[in-house]
Amino acid sequence: MLANEIAHSDALAFMVAGKCTFVILTDKPKHPSLDHITLSITRKPESLPWDPLNVWYGNERVAKVEIIGQGFVVRYLPKNWLTDKHRIAAQSVEFVIRRLQEKTLPEKVHILHTGLCGACGRTLTDPESIRIGLGPICKAK
Ligand SMILES: [Zn+2]
Repeated sequence: MLANEIAHSDALAFMVAGKCTFVILTDKPKHPSLDHITLSITRKPESLPWDPLNVWYGNERVAKVEIIGQGFVVRYLPKNWLTDKHRIAAQSVEFVIRRLQEKTLPEKVHILHTGLCGACGRTLTDPESIRIGLGPICKAK
């Protein structure tokens, strides 16, 4: 495991926790520019639990994550795809979230947090929190 890497079995809970920033790192990608993409998935503080989450690439909202039953579906926002990188970022999130739910995300795809809790943004300190990307209080929710 890489530093700050989250196991695939724990990654989805982190990604939809409401205030996460993460890196999708791919070993030997088809194109070198695809090896490393940093994104955030956030929920507005005042939103309801079933409201969609927003997927950000830099300052641009490139997709949203809708909650359908027990699952998650990524909807693209192509008007905000200013460059190829924006499109690739949105498509990467769609792929990762879909494959995590199917439990078929390839092992060469790694999800890394940035040292901050995916739900509240506080710095993660203890080993268990660093392992799953969520602090003890947020994990209990
Ligand atoms: Zn937290």
